[in-house]
Amino acid sequence: MDKRPWEANIRKVVPYVPGEQPAGDRLVKLNTNENPYGPAPGVRKALREMDAGGFRKYPDPAANALTAALAARYGVGQDQVFVGVGSDDVLGMAFLTFFNGEKPVLFPDITYSFYPVWAELFGIPFKTCELDSSLRIRKGDYGQPNGGIIFPNPNAPTGLLMGLDEVEEILGRNQDVVVIVDEAYIDFGGQSAIPLVSRYENLLVVQTFSKSRSMAGMRIGYAIGHRDLIRALNDVKYSYNSYTMNMPSIILGAEAVKDEAYFQETLGRIVATREKTKGWMRELGFDFPDSQANFLLVSHGQAKAEWLFEQLKKEQIYVRYFKTPRLDNRLRITIGTDEEMEILRKALEKLLQFADVYAG
Ligand SMILES: *Cc1c(COP(=O)(O)O)cnc(C)c1O
Repeated sequence: MDKRPWEANIRKVVPYVPGEQPAGDRLVKLNTNENPYGPAPGVRKALREMDAGGFRKYPDPAANALTAALAARYGVGQDQVFVGVGSDDVLGMAFLTFFNGEKPVLFPDITYSFYPVWAELFGIPFKTCELDSSLRIRKGDYGQPNGGIIFPNPNAPTGLLMGLDEVEEILGRNQDVVVIVDEAYIDFGGQSAIPLVSRYENLLVVQTFSKSRSMAGMRIGYAIGHRDLIRALNDVKYSYNSYTMNMPSIILGAEAVKDEAYFQETLGRIVATREKTKGWMRELGFDFPDSQANFLLVSHGQAKAEWLFEQLKKEQIYVRYFKTPRLDNRLRITIGTDEEMEILRKALEKLLQFADVYAG
């Protein structure tokens, strides 16, 4: 068919592919790093008491209730907090706001696969830096000329954590560009770079309610940094969509931040389950980086990852498989409840008995 004339004006993009969200409640869903415990009790209560009549009005465009709660929690000024519709929204805005140079933005070759998508969408030049053979970020790579830097800490999907001293080393060498640390998984065992924002005006730390606060469905993310960075982000936001945060997100997000005890308790449970899972995974012959996040990136010498992925799905167990170079013989498995991990363990034990036959 001939190309229709208007097609020439359509933006061509290769979109990010999110993990499956299959329907059903009998399945074990370990494929998108959700947190099994759900939001704090205060969030449920506030939701029940919410007055839908209020929805006739626009929400507070500055989401003050939420930025105030986050500022108090992290000991920063309210003008140092930016919020968005999940950290994807915050990160997308940050790419648009801060990465406008001629030089390439640097990020790891194996990392959150949304980074190259935003770079392509916004026409930002970028260069990926190869992880070393044990899948660690090579700090030395981040000394080359660049137009900005972004990396997750811990990195995804490896789960490997960099110490705060190493993060600071990268910052120290890159004071002329904005450095973004994506801390989607920092609460599961790392030390946040938030305390460094008072010393590095070019540092933006991004976090999310989706993983550690178990509110992926609410879509809340935030950035903390120098107020001039936050002002720049807000200028771009108000040039595109003033009301990104809906009323329930603002109210329920603020509520979630107030319950520190519940937050710490559920984090502790996930970390305990993760360490237990590492133990039996090793016994079953799996190999994996020592993750400090709520997932493991595993491979097995006798069983192909893609085969395991397909077989587990037949058992209603969903994990994540990336058919991309260097990742295509690994599975990323979210840490669920002890019960869910036990179902997974039994299924893997059974499958590995047949694995020799299928190994190729
Ligand atoms: C999950 C994730 C995000 C985005 O999460 P949101 O749900 O949009 O807040 C960002 N970065 C990394 C590395 C992630 O794993």
